[in-house]
Amino acid sequence: MMISVVVPTYNEEESVPHLYEKLKEVLDKLGEEYEIIFVDDGSEDGTPEILKELASKDKKVKVIRFRRNYGQTAAMYAGFEHAKGDVIITMDADLQNDPEDIPKLLEKIKEGYDIVSGWRKDRKDPFLSRKLPSKVANWIISKVTGVELHDYGCTLKAYKADIAKRYRLYGDMHRFLPALAKRFGAKITEIPVKHHPRIYGKSKYGIGRTVRVILDIFLVKFLNEYITKPLYVFGGLGFFLLVIGVAIEIYLTLLKIFTGADIGGRPLLILGVLLILAGIQLLSTGIIAELIIRTYYESRGEKPYVIEEKLNMEE
Ligand code: UDP
Ligand code: MG
Repeated sequence: MMISVVVPTYNEEESVPHLYEKLKEVLDKLGEEYEIIFVDDGSEDGTPEILKELASKDKKVKVIRFRRNYGQTAAMYAGFEHAKGDVIITMDADLQNDPEDIPKLLEKIKEGYDIVSGWRKDRKDPFLSRKLPSKVANWIISKVTGVELHDYGCTLKAYKADIAKRYRLYGDMHRFLPALAKRFGAKITEIPVKHHPRIYGKSKYGIGRTVRVILDIFLVKFLNEYITKPLYVFGGLGFFLLVIGVAIEIYLTLLKIFTGADIGGRPLLILGVLLILAGIQLLSTGIIAELIIRTYYESRGEKPYVIEEKLNMEE
């Protein structure tokens, strides 16, 4: 079993040498083949030089350097694409995650899990700006996606390589990998891991991240449950609105015909028209989404299912 450790790194010049030493110590003891992939996400400090130096001394250290800062998710994606291992471990470069937890993660992978997520049970970050929003977000994500984890935001995770490589990651989506993997029937678990306060450098995120996380939850829900049938989502709602709208207008028309009542100034009239328009629009959005989804799957040569095993099937 070969292990690839993927470390997104952005302006972490002081932390990187320490992280490398600790990682090497832990990984050498495992007795498995390994590589450490540092993805330098366009650092503007001394990080590139330090990584170059490490790579020249140790062939197990691989470095991918971005031209500019693309974000942690893009860095992880690049790391996954280049990883040669059977198991991929992701972690932060800032020493907040502890390499000593790696053997525990691997044990769970050996037990047969596809994803093992770290849980920073005793998290060493500010309460109001970090721990509280994170608690709320984790609760919502767990409920919405049905994959119950205490700590989606913990970068320290282990993945079977084929699961990690299956995704194209956009935006800030890396934290949702466990929830996305549910679509493929991945077996997911979590274990408590150590967490340290940041000693060197600064955190790269502020409170604005919370908003992005909330928006992403909608996307994950959609991707997981409706990606192959968008017409049911948009069309279902559209149809519902359309029926109510039409019913209202029929009622008003009958009223006019049989009682001669004046219906021109009634709010109900406008509501009916609005519902009909919204309904038609949603229905057509659903149809367009269906067409886009077909293009999406066919252009990527992707199937809407994943096969675990084939027996007696000739290739
Ligand atoms: N990171 C990155 N690109 C970015 C922002 C962050 O590669 O644009 C890396 C960063 O170097 C660190 C990890 O992602 O290794 C987590 O970042 P940080 O420690 O700032 O997040 P926090 O722990 O405060 O949530
Ligand atoms: Mg950190």
